[in-house]
Amino acid sequence: MKNLSVKLKITLWYTAFMTLLIVVSLLVLFSISSLRVLSDARTRLKNTVLQGYSEIEYRDGLLTFDDDLNYLEEGVYLCAYDSQGYLLYGRTPAGFSGAPTLIMDQLRQVGSGQDFWYVYDYCQSVDGYGNLWLRGIASQTGADSVLRIITNAAFILLPFSVLLIALGGYLITARALRPLSAMTETARTISRGKDLTQRIRLGAGKDEVHVLAHTFDQMMERLQISFENEKQFTSDVSHELRTPVAVILSQCEYASQEGTPPEELRGSIGVIGAQARKMSVLISQLLTLARADNGKQKLQYELVNLSELAEIITEEQSLAAEEKGITLQTDISPEILMRADETMMMRLFINLISNSITYGKPGGHTRITLSADEKEITGSVADDGIGIPAEHLDKIWQRFYQVDPSRTSGSGSGSGLGLPMVKWIVEAHGGQIGVSSRPGEGSVFTFRFPKRTAS
Ligand code: ADP
Repeated sequence: MKNLSVKLKITLWYTAFMTLLIVVSLLVLFSISSLRVLSDARTRLKNTVLQGYSEIEYRDGLLTFDDDLNYLEEGVYLCAYDSQGYLLYGRTPAGFSGAPTLIMDQLRQVGSGQDFWYVYDYCQSVDGYGNLWLRGIASQTGADSVLRIITNAAFILLPFSVLLIALGGYLITARALRPLSAMTETARTISRGKDLTQRIRLGAGKDEVHVLAHTFDQMMERLQISFENEKQFTSDVSHELRTPVAVILSQCEYASQEGTPPEELRGSIGVIGAQARKMSVLISQLLTLARADNGKQKLQYELVNLSELAEIITEEQSLAAEEKGITLQTDISPEILMRADETMMMRLFINLISNSITYGKPGGHTRITLSADEKEITGSVADDGIGIPAEHLDKIWQRFYQVDPSRTSGSGSGSGLGLPMVKWIVEAHGGQIGVSSRPGEGSVFTFRFPKRTAS
Protein backbone atom coordinates (compact mmCIF):
# COMPACT_ATOMS: atom_id res chain seq x y z
CA MET A 1 0.00 0.00 0.00
CA LYS A 2 2.87 2.34 0.85
CA ASN A 3 4.25 2.14 -2.69
CA LEU A 4 0.95 3.06 -4.31
CA SER A 5 0.49 6.57 -5.61
CA VAL A 6 -1.76 8.91 -3.63
CA LYS A 7 -4.15 8.96 -6.60
CA LEU A 8 -4.53 5.19 -6.47
CA LYS A 9 -4.82 5.09 -2.70
CA ILE A 10 -7.58 7.70 -2.63
CA THR A 11 -9.39 5.94 -5.50
CA LEU A 12 -9.20 2.56 -3.75
CA TRP A 13 -10.43 3.90 -0.42
CA TYR A 14 -13.16 5.92 -2.06
CA THR A 15 -14.34 3.01 -4.22
CA ALA A 16 -14.34 0.58 -1.29
CA PHE A 17 -16.26 3.04 0.84
CA MET A 18 -18.82 3.85 -1.86
CA THR A 19 -19.33 0.15 -2.67
CA LEU A 20 -19.89 -0.63 0.99
CA LEU A 21 -22.31 2.27 1.24
CA ILE A 22 -24.29 1.10 -1.82
CA VAL A 23 -24.39 -2.54 -0.66
CA VAL A 24 -25.52 -1.60 2.85
CA SER A 25 -28.15 0.83 1.49
CA LEU A 26 -29.48 -1.84 -0.92
CA LEU A 27 -29.62 -4.44 1.83
CA VAL A 28 -31.48 -2.09 4.15
CA LEU A 29 -33.84 -1.07 1.34
CA PHE A 30 -34.58 -4.65 0.31
CA SER A 31 -35.10 -5.93 3.82
CA ILE A 32 -37.49 -3.09 4.63
CA SER A 33 -39.40 -3.63 1.36
CA SER A 34 -39.62 -7.40 1.73
CA LEU A 35 -40.75 -7.06 5.34
CA ARG A 36 -43.46 -4.75 4.12
CA VAL A 37 -44.50 -7.15 1.34
CA LEU A 38 -44.62 -10.08 3.80
CA SER A 39 -46.66 -8.17 6.32
CA ASP A 40 -49.15 -7.10 3.60
CA ALA A 41 -49.48 -10.70 2.40
CA ARG A 42 -50.02 -11.96 5.96
CA THR A 43 -52.72 -9.37 6.71
CA ARG A 44 -54.48 -10.09 3.44
CA LEU A 45 -54.48 -13.89 3.95
CA LYS A 46 -55.40 -13.77 7.64
CA ASN A 47 -58.35 -11.43 6.99
CA THR A 48 -59.64 -13.68 4.20
CA VAL A 49 -59.23 -16.86 6.28
CA LEU A 50 -61.03 -15.36 9.31
CA GLN A 51 -63.76 -14.07 7.04
CA GLY A 52 -63.99 -17.58 5.53
CA TYR A 53 -65.22 -19.07 8.82
CA SER A 54 -68.40 -17.03 8.56
CA GLU A 55 -69.21 -18.83 5.29
CA ILE A 56 -69.03 -22.29 6.94
CA GLU A 57 -71.85 -23.90 8.90
CA TYR A 58 -72.45 -27.22 10.59
CA ARG A 59 -76.00 -28.29 10.03
CA ASP A 60 -77.64 -31.67 10.38
CA GLY A 61 -74.33 -33.45 10.91
CA LEU A 62 -72.88 -31.90 7.74
CA LEU A 63 -70.47 -29.10 7.12
CA THR A 64 -71.76 -26.73 4.49
CA PHE A 65 -69.42 -24.40 2.64
CA ASP A 66 -70.99 -21.38 1.05
CA ASP A 67 -69.95 -20.69 -2.57
CA ASP A 68 -68.87 -17.23 -1.59
CA LEU A 69 -65.91 -18.88 0.06
CA ASN A 70 -64.15 -18.91 -3.29
CA TYR A 71 -64.75 -15.26 -4.02
CA LEU A 72 -63.87 -13.57 -0.77
CA GLU A 73 -60.66 -12.08 -2.06
CA GLU A 74 -59.31 -12.15 -5.56
CA GLY A 75 -56.29 -14.35 -5.96
CA VAL A 76 -56.76 -16.05 -2.59
CA TYR A 77 -57.68 -19.74 -2.58
CA LEU A 78 -59.29 -21.20 0.57
CA CYS A 79 -59.18 -24.89 1.62
CA ALA A 80 -60.75 -26.50 4.69
CA TYR A 81 -59.14 -29.40 6.57
CA ASP A 82 -60.34 -31.50 9.48
CA SER A 83 -58.26 -31.78 12.59
CA GLN A 84 -56.42 -34.80 11.06
CA GLY A 85 -55.33 -32.74 8.10
CA TYR A 86 -57.71 -34.28 5.52
CA LEU A 87 -58.93 -31.93 2.84
CA LEU A 88 -62.68 -31.38 3.26
CA TYR A 89 -63.24 -28.58 0.82
CA GLY A 90 -61.50 -26.18 -1.49
CA ARG A 91 -59.13 -25.94 -4.41
CA THR A 92 -55.50 -25.08 -4.85
CA PRO A 93 -54.00 -22.84 -7.55
CA ALA A 94 -52.58 -24.48 -10.68
CA GLY A 95 -48.95 -25.38 -10.18
CA PHE A 96 -49.15 -25.33 -6.42
CA SER A 97 -46.80 -28.15 -5.63
CA GLY A 98 -47.39 -29.42 -2.15
CA ALA A 99 -49.43 -29.27 0.95
CA PRO A 100 -47.10 -28.66 3.81
CA THR A 101 -48.23 -29.51 7.32
CA LEU A 102 -50.73 -27.21 8.91
CA ILE A 103 -49.14 -24.66 11.20
CA MET A 104 -51.27 -22.27 13.19
CA ASP A 105 -51.17 -18.54 12.35
CA GLN A 106 -47.92 -18.49 10.43
CA LEU A 107 -47.18 -17.14 6.98
CA ARG A 108 -44.96 -19.36 4.86
CA GLN A 109 -43.56 -19.25 1.38
CA VAL A 110 -43.98 -22.48 -0.58
CA GLY A 111 -42.30 -23.18 -3.90
CA SER A 112 -39.05 -21.98 -5.32
CA GLY A 113 -37.54 -19.53 -7.76
CA GLN A 114 -40.02 -17.43 -9.69
CA ASP A 115 -43.01 -19.65 -8.70
CA PHE A 116 -43.95 -19.48 -5.09
CA TRP A 117 -47.05 -19.04 -2.99
CA TYR A 118 -47.87 -17.61 0.34
CA VAL A 119 -49.63 -20.11 2.62
CA TYR A 120 -51.44 -19.18 5.81
CA ASP A 121 -53.23 -21.70 8.14
CA TYR A 122 -55.67 -21.04 10.92
CA CYS A 123 -57.64 -23.35 13.20
CA GLN A 124 -60.95 -22.35 14.76
CA SER A 125 -63.86 -24.17 16.28
CA VAL A 126 -67.09 -24.40 14.21
CA ASP A 127 -70.23 -24.65 16.28
CA GLY A 128 -71.33 -28.31 16.63
CA TYR A 129 -68.45 -29.64 14.54
CA GLY A 130 -65.34 -28.87 16.52
CA ASN A 131 -61.92 -27.69 15.25
CA LEU A 132 -61.70 -26.85 11.58
CA TRP A 133 -58.54 -25.72 9.75
CA LEU A 134 -58.76 -23.12 7.02
CA ARG A 135 -55.83 -22.51 4.71
CA GLY A 136 -55.39 -19.47 2.52
CA ILE A 137 -53.12 -19.71 -0.53
CA ALA A 138 -52.09 -16.69 -2.58
CA SER A 139 -49.72 -16.38 -5.45
CA GLN A 140 -46.97 -13.80 -5.34
CA THR A 141 -48.06 -10.20 -5.69
CA GLY A 142 -46.99 -7.53 -8.16
CA ALA A 143 -44.86 -5.95 -5.45
CA ASP A 144 -43.04 -9.25 -5.05
CA SER A 145 -42.12 -9.48 -8.69
CA VAL A 146 -41.04 -5.83 -8.82
CA LEU A 147 -38.86 -6.38 -5.76
CA ARG A 148 -37.27 -9.43 -7.35
CA ILE A 149 -36.62 -7.64 -10.62
CA ILE A 150 -35.03 -4.71 -8.76
CA THR A 151 -32.88 -7.10 -6.68
CA ASN A 152 -31.64 -8.90 -9.77
CA ALA A 153 -31.00 -5.62 -11.59
CA ALA A 154 -29.13 -4.23 -8.59
CA PHE A 155 -26.81 -7.22 -8.47
CA ILE A 156 -26.12 -6.99 -12.20
CA LEU A 157 -25.60 -3.20 -12.07
CA LEU A 158 -23.46 -3.22 -8.92
CA PRO A 159 -20.16 -4.20 -10.63
CA PHE A 160 -20.72 -1.54 -13.31
CA SER A 161 -21.47 1.09 -10.67
CA VAL A 162 -18.30 0.11 -8.79
CA LEU A 163 -16.33 0.47 -12.03
CA LEU A 164 -17.90 3.86 -12.73
CA ILE A 165 -17.23 5.05 -9.17
CA ALA A 166 -13.60 3.93 -9.39
CA LEU A 167 -13.10 5.61 -12.76
CA GLY A 168 -14.81 8.85 -11.67
CA GLY A 169 -12.86 8.87 -8.41
CA TYR A 170 -9.58 8.34 -10.22
CA LEU A 171 -10.26 11.13 -12.74
CA ILE A 172 -11.35 13.62 -10.04
CA THR A 173 -8.36 12.79 -7.82
CA ALA A 174 -5.97 12.98 -10.75
CA ARG A 175 -7.38 16.38 -11.68
CA ALA A 176 -7.20 17.66 -8.09
CA LEU A 177 -3.63 16.45 -7.67
CA ARG A 178 -2.35 17.67 -11.03
CA PRO A 179 -0.79 20.81 -9.46
CA LEU A 180 1.26 18.52 -7.22
CA SER A 181 2.88 17.01 -10.30
CA ALA A 182 3.59 20.56 -11.50
CA MET A 183 5.17 21.32 -8.13
CA THR A 184 7.31 18.20 -8.25
CA GLU A 185 8.40 19.09 -11.76
CA THR A 186 9.30 22.65 -10.72
CA ALA A 187 11.22 21.42 -7.67
CA ARG A 188 13.08 18.96 -9.91
CA THR A 189 13.96 21.66 -12.44
CA ILE A 190 15.22 23.90 -9.64
CA SER A 191 17.34 21.19 -8.05
CA ARG A 192 18.72 20.05 -11.43
CA GLY A 193 19.53 23.42 -12.95
CA LYS A 194 19.73 25.48 -9.72
CA ASP A 195 17.39 27.92 -11.42
CA LEU A 196 15.77 29.74 -8.51
CA THR A 197 13.61 31.89 -10.80
CA GLN A 198 11.28 28.94 -11.51
CA ARG A 199 7.73 29.22 -10.07
CA ILE A 200 4.65 27.01 -10.15
CA ARG A 201 2.25 29.92 -10.83
CA LEU A 202 -0.94 27.96 -10.33
CA GLY A 203 -3.20 30.99 -10.72
CA ALA A 204 -6.07 32.06 -8.50
CA GLY A 205 -7.66 29.52 -6.16
CA LYS A 206 -8.15 28.96 -2.48
CA ASP A 207 -8.12 25.19 -2.07
CA GLU A 208 -5.36 23.40 -0.18
CA VAL A 209 -3.31 22.63 -3.28
CA HIS A 210 -3.44 26.25 -4.45
CA VAL A 211 -2.44 27.45 -0.98
CA LEU A 212 0.46 24.97 -0.99
CA ALA A 213 1.55 26.10 -4.46
CA HIS A 214 1.39 29.80 -3.48
CA THR A 215 3.36 29.08 -0.31
CA PHE A 216 5.93 27.20 -2.37
CA ASP A 217 6.22 30.16 -4.78
CA GLN A 218 6.59 32.58 -1.88
CA MET A 219 9.26 30.36 -0.36
CA MET A 220 11.12 30.29 -3.67
CA GLU A 221 10.81 34.09 -3.91
CA ARG A 222 12.42 34.47 -0.48
CA LEU A 223 15.06 31.86 -1.22
CA GLN A 224 15.93 33.61 -4.45
CA ILE A 225 16.18 36.99 -2.73
CA SER A 226 18.33 35.66 0.11
CA PHE A 227 20.49 33.70 -2.33
CA GLU A 228 21.01 36.81 -4.45
CA ASN A 229 21.69 38.89 -1.33
CA GLU A 230 24.24 36.31 -0.29
CA LYS A 231 25.94 36.50 -3.69
CA GLN A 232 25.82 40.28 -3.63
CA PHE A 233 27.19 40.30 -0.08
CA THR A 234 30.14 38.07 -0.96
CA SER A 235 30.97 40.17 -3.99
CA ASP A 236 30.65 43.42 -1.97
CA VAL A 237 32.89 42.12 0.81
CA SER A 238 35.52 40.97 -1.69
CA HIS A 239 35.31 44.31 -3.44
CA GLU A 240 35.67 46.28 -0.20
CA LEU A 241 38.67 44.22 0.93
CA ARG A 242 40.41 44.25 -2.43
CA THR A 243 41.37 47.94 -2.37
CA PRO A 244 43.06 48.05 1.07
CA VAL A 245 44.79 44.73 0.40
CA ALA A 246 46.10 46.03 -2.95
CA VAL A 247 47.31 49.25 -1.28
CA ILE A 248 49.03 47.28 1.52
CA LEU A 249 50.73 44.95 -1.00
CA SER A 250 52.00 47.77 -3.18
CA GLN A 251 53.27 49.69 -0.14
CA CYS A 252 55.04 46.57 1.13
CA GLU A 253 56.65 46.06 -2.28
CA TYR A 254 57.76 49.70 -2.40
CA ALA A 255 59.08 49.67 1.19
CA SER A 256 60.98 46.44 0.70
CA GLN A 257 63.01 47.93 -2.18
CA GLU A 258 66.59 48.58 -1.30
CA GLY A 259 67.53 52.15 -0.59
CA THR A 260 64.05 53.43 0.28
CA PRO A 261 64.61 56.53 2.42
CA PRO A 262 63.51 56.14 6.09
CA GLU A 263 60.91 58.91 5.92
CA GLU A 264 59.26 57.23 2.91
CA LEU A 265 59.40 53.94 4.77
CA ARG A 266 57.53 55.58 7.65
CA GLY A 267 55.06 57.00 5.14
CA SER A 268 54.43 53.51 3.73
CA ILE A 269 53.96 52.08 7.20
CA GLY A 270 51.49 54.87 7.91
CA VAL A 271 49.51 54.04 4.76
CA ILE A 272 49.60 50.31 5.61
CA GLY A 273 48.40 51.12 9.14
CA ALA A 274 45.51 53.25 7.80
CA GLN A 275 44.42 50.52 5.39
CA ALA A 276 44.68 47.88 8.11
CA ARG A 277 42.53 50.05 10.38
CA LYS A 278 39.98 50.42 7.61
CA MET A 279 39.90 46.62 7.21
CA SER A 280 39.61 46.21 10.94
CA VAL A 281 36.60 48.57 11.08
CA LEU A 282 35.04 46.78 8.13
CA ILE A 283 35.56 43.37 9.72
CA SER A 284 34.14 44.45 13.05
CA GLN A 285 31.07 45.97 11.33
CA LEU A 286 30.62 42.79 9.31
CA LEU A 287 30.90 40.71 12.45
CA THR A 288 28.29 42.80 14.27
CA LEU A 289 25.87 42.57 11.37
CA ALA A 290 26.47 38.84 10.88
CA ARG A 291 25.87 38.22 14.59
CA ALA A 292 22.78 40.41 14.44
CA ASP A 293 21.49 38.30 11.52
CA ASN A 294 22.01 35.09 13.44
CA GLY A 295 20.50 36.59 16.57
CA LYS A 296 23.80 36.00 18.32
CA GLN A 297 24.74 39.64 18.91
CA LYS A 298 23.80 39.89 22.57
CA LEU A 299 23.44 43.37 23.98
CA GLN A 300 25.11 44.06 27.31
CA TYR A 301 22.53 46.23 28.99
CA GLU A 302 23.62 48.67 31.67
CA LEU A 303 22.54 52.11 32.80
CA VAL A 304 24.27 54.47 30.39
CA ASN A 305 24.54 58.23 30.75
CA LEU A 306 23.72 59.01 27.15
CA SER A 307 24.40 62.76 27.59
CA GLU A 308 27.93 62.13 28.82
CA LEU A 309 28.55 59.59 26.08
CA ALA A 310 27.41 62.01 23.37
CA GLU A 311 29.66 64.78 24.81
CA ILE A 312 32.71 62.46 24.95
CA ILE A 313 32.27 61.25 21.37
CA THR A 314 31.73 64.78 20.10
CA GLU A 315 34.95 65.73 21.83
CA GLU A 316 36.78 62.78 20.25
CA GLN A 317 35.50 63.66 16.80
CA SER A 318 36.38 67.35 17.12
CA LEU A 319 39.92 66.80 15.86
CA ALA A 320 38.74 65.22 12.61
CA ALA A 321 36.14 68.00 12.31
CA GLU A 322 38.74 70.67 12.83
CA GLU A 323 40.90 69.16 10.10
CA LYS A 324 38.02 69.68 7.70
CA GLY A 325 37.12 73.08 9.08
CA ILE A 326 33.83 71.89 10.48
CA THR A 327 32.45 73.21 13.75
CA LEU A 328 30.73 70.76 16.07
CA GLN A 329 27.88 72.25 18.11
CA THR A 330 25.94 70.47 20.81
CA ASP A 331 22.57 70.90 22.42
CA ILE A 332 22.58 67.98 24.83
CA SER A 333 20.26 67.89 27.84
CA PRO A 334 22.19 66.70 30.86
CA GLU A 335 21.75 63.41 32.70
CA ILE A 336 19.78 61.46 30.15
CA LEU A 337 19.99 57.89 31.37
CA MET A 338 19.08 54.82 29.41
CA ARG A 339 19.44 51.07 29.83
CA ALA A 340 21.53 50.28 26.78
CA ASP A 341 24.64 48.59 25.45
CA GLU A 342 27.29 51.28 25.89
CA THR A 343 29.61 50.06 23.12
CA MET A 344 26.72 50.00 20.66
CA MET A 345 25.62 53.50 21.66
CA MET A 346 29.19 54.70 21.11
CA ARG A 347 29.17 53.20 17.63
CA LEU A 348 25.86 54.93 16.93
CA PHE A 349 27.23 58.41 17.77
CA ILE A 350 30.63 57.76 16.14
CA ASN A 351 29.03 56.68 12.86
CA LEU A 352 26.55 59.53 12.65
CA ILE A 353 29.03 62.25 13.68
CA SER A 354 31.87 60.94 11.50
CA ASN A 355 29.48 60.73 8.52
CA SER A 356 28.47 64.35 9.11
CA ILE A 357 32.16 65.27 8.96
CA THR A 358 32.92 63.06 5.96
CA TYR A 359 29.97 64.41 3.99
CA GLY A 360 30.10 67.92 5.47
CA LYS A 361 31.58 70.86 3.61
CA PRO A 362 34.65 72.82 4.70
CA GLY A 363 33.63 75.63 7.03
CA GLY A 364 30.35 73.85 7.73
CA HIS A 365 28.59 72.90 10.96
CA THR A 366 27.40 69.72 12.63
CA ARG A 367 24.80 70.03 15.36
CA ILE A 368 24.34 67.18 17.84
CA THR A 369 21.20 67.26 19.98
CA LEU A 370 19.84 65.01 22.69
CA SER A 371 16.69 65.55 24.72
CA ALA A 372 14.12 63.52 26.61
CA ASP A 373 10.50 63.80 27.71
CA GLU A 374 8.29 61.36 29.66
CA LYS A 375 7.77 59.18 26.59
CA GLU A 376 11.01 59.08 24.67
CA ILE A 377 14.62 60.05 24.23
CA THR A 378 15.27 61.92 21.00
CA GLY A 379 18.63 62.57 19.41
CA SER A 380 19.78 64.04 16.12
CA VAL A 381 22.92 64.73 14.14
CA ALA A 382 22.45 67.50 11.59
CA ASP A 383 24.95 68.83 9.11
CA ASP A 384 25.00 71.42 6.35
CA GLY A 385 27.03 69.23 4.02
CA ILE A 386 26.49 67.77 0.59
CA GLY A 387 23.17 66.09 1.44
CA ILE A 388 21.63 62.99 -0.08
CA PRO A 389 19.54 63.00 -3.27
CA ALA A 390 15.92 61.93 -2.60
CA GLU A 391 16.15 58.77 -4.73
CA HIS A 392 18.93 57.45 -2.50
CA LEU A 393 17.30 58.19 0.85
CA ASP A 394 15.64 54.76 1.21
CA LYS A 395 18.68 52.86 0.08
CA ILE A 396 21.34 54.25 2.40
CA TRP A 397 20.21 51.73 5.06
CA GLN A 398 21.11 48.80 2.79
CA ARG A 399 24.38 47.02 3.35
CA PHE A 400 27.30 48.25 1.22
CA TYR A 401 25.13 50.95 -0.28
CA GLN A 402 27.06 54.11 -1.06
CA VAL A 403 25.41 57.05 -2.76
CA ASP A 404 28.59 57.74 -4.67
CA PRO A 405 31.80 56.04 -3.51
CA SER A 406 33.85 58.91 -4.94
CA ARG A 407 32.23 61.27 -2.38
CA THR A 408 34.34 59.69 0.38
CA SER A 409 37.54 60.05 -1.55
CA GLY A 410 38.78 62.49 1.04
CA SER A 411 38.88 59.98 3.88
CA GLY A 412 38.67 56.78 1.85
CA SER A 413 36.93 55.11 4.77
CA GLY A 414 33.47 54.52 3.30
CA SER A 415 32.19 50.99 3.00
CA GLY A 416 28.42 51.38 3.17
CA LEU A 417 28.10 49.34 6.37
CA GLY A 418 27.91 52.20 8.89
CA LEU A 419 24.25 53.16 8.52
CA PRO A 420 22.91 49.57 8.34
CA MET A 421 24.71 48.95 11.62
CA VAL A 422 23.36 52.17 13.14
CA LYS A 423 19.84 51.16 12.11
CA TRP A 424 20.27 47.72 13.67
CA ILE A 425 21.60 49.24 16.91
CA VAL A 426 18.65 51.64 17.18
CA GLU A 427 16.08 48.94 16.41
CA ALA A 428 17.73 46.42 18.76
CA HIS A 429 17.16 48.99 21.51
CA GLY A 430 13.51 49.30 20.51
CA GLY A 431 13.96 52.63 18.75
CA GLN A 432 13.55 54.12 15.29
CA ILE A 433 15.80 56.14 13.07
CA GLY A 434 15.07 58.33 10.07
CA VAL A 435 16.74 60.84 7.82
CA SER A 436 15.73 63.97 6.01
CA SER A 437 18.11 65.56 3.54
CA ARG A 438 18.40 68.00 0.69
CA PRO A 439 21.31 67.84 -1.75
CA GLY A 440 23.59 70.81 -1.22
CA GLU A 441 21.86 71.85 2.01
CA GLY A 442 22.63 69.06 4.44
CA SER A 443 21.18 66.06 6.24
CA VAL A 444 19.48 65.43 9.58
CA PHE A 445 19.56 61.96 11.13
CA THR A 446 17.02 61.63 13.96
CA PHE A 447 16.66 58.67 16.31
CA ARG A 448 14.16 57.99 19.10
CA PHE A 449 14.11 55.47 21.90
CA PRO A 450 10.96 54.78 23.88
CA LYS A 451 11.31 55.52 27.58
CA ARG A 452 10.36 51.94 28.63
CA THR A 453 13.75 50.65 27.47
CA ALA A 454 15.21 53.77 28.94
CA SER A 455 14.03 53.01 32.45
P1 ADP B 1 29.86 54.93 4.37
O1 ADP B 1 30.84 54.10 5.05
O2 ADP B 1 29.98 54.92 2.90
O3 ADP B 1 29.76 56.28 4.95
P2 ADP B 1 27.28 54.57 5.50
O4 ADP B 1 26.45 53.37 5.60
O5 ADP B 1 27.66 55.25 6.74
O6 ADP B 1 28.52 54.16 4.63
O7 ADP B 1 26.51 55.61 4.58
C1 ADP B 1 25.91 55.18 3.39
C2 ADP B 1 25.83 56.32 2.37
O8 ADP B 1 24.95 57.32 2.87
C3 ADP B 1 27.15 56.97 2.17
O9 ADP B 1 27.82 56.41 1.08
C4 ADP B 1 26.84 58.42 1.93
O10 ADP B 1 26.75 58.65 0.55
C5 ADP B 1 25.45 58.61 2.54
N1 ADP B 1 25.54 59.42 3.78
C6 ADP B 1 25.61 58.97 5.04
N2 ADP B 1 25.64 59.99 5.94
C7 ADP B 1 25.58 61.12 5.20
C8 ADP B 1 25.57 62.53 5.51
N3 ADP B 1 25.61 62.97 6.77
N4 ADP B 1 25.51 63.40 4.49
C9 ADP B 1 25.44 63.00 3.20
N5 ADP B 1 25.47 61.69 2.85
C10 ADP B 1 25.52 60.77 3.82
